[in-house]
Amino acid sequence: MFPETLATASRQLPYFRTREFSQIMFENEEMFKRSINAPQDAKTVFLTASGTGAMEAAIMNCFTKEDRLLVINGGSFGRRFAEICNIHQIPHDEVILEFGKELTEELLEVVDGSRYSGLLVNLHETVTGQLYDIALLAQYCRKYNLYFVVDAVSAYGADEVDFSQYAIDVLIVSSQKALALSPGISIVEISKRIYEERVLKIQPSTLYFDFKMCIENLKRGQTPFTPAVGILLELNERLKQIQKAGWKRMQEECHALAVRFRMELEQRDFEVPVYRLSNALTPILLKPHAKEMYLHLKEDYGFIVTPSGGELEEVLIRVGHLGNVCWEDYDKLLEAMECIRELL
Ligand SMILES: *Cc1c(COP(=O)(O)O)cnc(C)c1O
Repeated sequence: MFPETLATASRQLPYFRTREFSQIMFENEEMFKRSINAPQDAKTVFLTASGTGAMEAAIMNCFTKEDRLLVINGGSFGRRFAEICNIHQIPHDEVILEFGKELTEELLEVVDGSRYSGLLVNLHETVTGQLYDIALLAQYCRKYNLYFVVDAVSAYGADEVDFSQYAIDVLIVSSQKALALSPGISIVEISKRIYEERVLKIQPSTLYFDFKMCIENLKRGQTPFTPAVGILLELNERLKQIQKAGWKRMQEECHALAVRFRMELEQRDFEVPVYRLSNALTPILLKPHAKEMYLHLKEDYGFIVTPSGGELEEVLIRVGHLGNVCWEDYDKLLEAMECIRELL
């Protein structure tokens, strides 16, 4: 987290049913829209929930049992979309990508899109680091007239996410990834088309996550229920900083860190998967010592990188490039990784 965020987080929280707080929410909406290049007629929903809450809310507000959805499943975040469809009994099929397999045009071409009403994708599948080709997916959705639902929780701020250019219908972002804020706020941007054709017509079986109420309340700069007030203040401060530097800047810095780190890894003979990578993180192949590498980094050097679960536990660690990190951090990390490798 950045020092300015920590300073904001340390302050007393205000009462929020006020004109002043509404003003902050209007600013948040306006700045967020600009950051993703969303048109004025798109709708913004602020939820007090982690990203999974926003994923589930998006499905509940936009789709019903009458739909059939296509889910890109290249890891546990893709699987989560499928699980949400299961729970809400929404028919769906999955494009399952085994670890290491890339989502290519050839792979997508053989799937008959005319059977579906929407496509669900985690633009960056965070468990593997694979970044799907957003232009390819957007084109597929356009061809078959599918609603394009993009979980950009770990792509926003790291990779190119352009709401208008890619005709996205639902875009999901959370506070705790590239924005480097406290976890607990998610933002869902909704196109005019899906708002009018779906959100306004569907009555979801939920009170707390009803988008209609959220959108109605935001017209006066409010949320239906008490939001995570402090995180919305953190968001306001952070978006202003990012806006001042220029919206592209955060992504460019993240890209520069990722590229340089990967070059250094290559020089040191560390192996990185060959599929398209997000700038958000670098996955490193360390089979069968990934878990040990993670533990040594944590216990002996005080570095927290991200371990893997399940079948990738001994295979992969992930090194993030989001938030308040700088090149010196990676220098020290690389040195530590080399020392640990000697011991394994
Ligand atoms: C982090 C993340 C989420 C949100 O997970 P939560 O634990 O609910 O915050 C959703 N999708 C992707 C792709 C993520 O990386």
